[in-house]
Amino acid sequence: MAASPDPAEVDPVAQLARAVTLRDRRALARAITLVESTRRADRVRADRLIQALLPATGRSIRLGISGPPGVGKSSFIEAFGLFLLAKGLRVAVLAVDPSSEISRGSILGDKTRMPELARSEGAFIRPSPAAGALGGVARRTREAVLVVEAGGFDVVLVETVGVGQSETDVADLTDMFLLLLAPGGGDELQGLKKGIVELAHALIVTKADGDLKPAAERAAADYKGALGILGPRARGRWRPEVLLASALEGTGLKEIWQAVQRYRDAVGAEAIASRRAGQAKSWMWREIEDGLLAAFKADKGVAKRVAELEAEVAKGAISPGAAAGELMGIFRGRPAS
Ligand code: GDP
Repeated sequence: MAASPDPAEVDPVAQLARAVTLRDRRALARAITLVESTRRADRVRADRLIQALLPATGRSIRLGISGPPGVGKSSFIEAFGLFLLAKGLRVAVLAVDPSSEISRGSILGDKTRMPELARSEGAFIRPSPAAGALGGVARRTREAVLVVEAGGFDVVLVETVGVGQSETDVADLTDMFLLLLAPGGGDELQGLKKGIVELAHALIVTKADGDLKPAAERAAADYKGALGILGPRARGRWRPEVLLASALEGTGLKEIWQAVQRYRDAVGAEAIASRRAGQAKSWMWREIEDGLLAAFKADKGVAKRVAELEAEVAKGAISPGAAAGELMGIFRGRPAS
């Protein structure tokens, strides 16, 4: 009797997982397409794929990169990515693009924004997925992080544009969060949401070259002062740093990479592992919340009553709490008597 076949040879998901760990680039792209899919059947396969890849994940350093449009994110990622490649590291770039929900186009992680990096053997750039959420863009990016890690990438750069929620998502996906700021100085600072600055492990003033260099240096000094005002909010043993960079001249990149190493040394592998553990738990609850809400909205009994109750709540005929209670009762199969 023939020996039973290796499950990886008959199960396409297991095959795909194996190809990813063997660093097959096409498999990598296919795996990410699968985790980005919103089709229910794909979702089941994606969950199995991630489960199969899990043992091969967790070995990269995950860096979040954010900043307002035009600050120089793509130029920085191109320069920093090439710098890392020259060190023999493999670099993946993923994007969380909040605008794609609305515009259906993606402006981040676009290969054309990082042409040289995109052509490099050791780099992998994934534009952000198109809209159509099942658990949102961040969820898919979180799974894409696991896929590229299993594919042997040493550094995962997760990019987002600075508009609020997406920074929180990216901070929740990464080990260290870098906030890019233009050399505008004081005014720039005014526009910054305090919460976002508080997420940052490092502030990087971009375009520190040519005519802009003095302004960049002044801005860096302002930011240092501002961080002082925000108080010593060292996370564990880390105090946020302010650094200067020029993508144009390639300066400041070494210092930023050194800051990443310092951060790793200062907080320690254990603290990074526990940050990731906390993130994983919070993502589990996000999935539960999303799943419950989707099930609630899809419930026929709820759907029948929800419009009426909304109208009554709007009129003030019934309190929001009582209306929610009734709908929850219907959802749980115990309608209010
Ligand atoms: P993004 O929208 O944040 O991705 O910003 P880009 O990387 O597309 O850059 C926006 C503009 O700033 C472009 O016109 C770049 O040429 C310019 N820029 C980006 N990095 C630098 C830099 O290091 N120095 C200078 N002088 N200009 C830069």
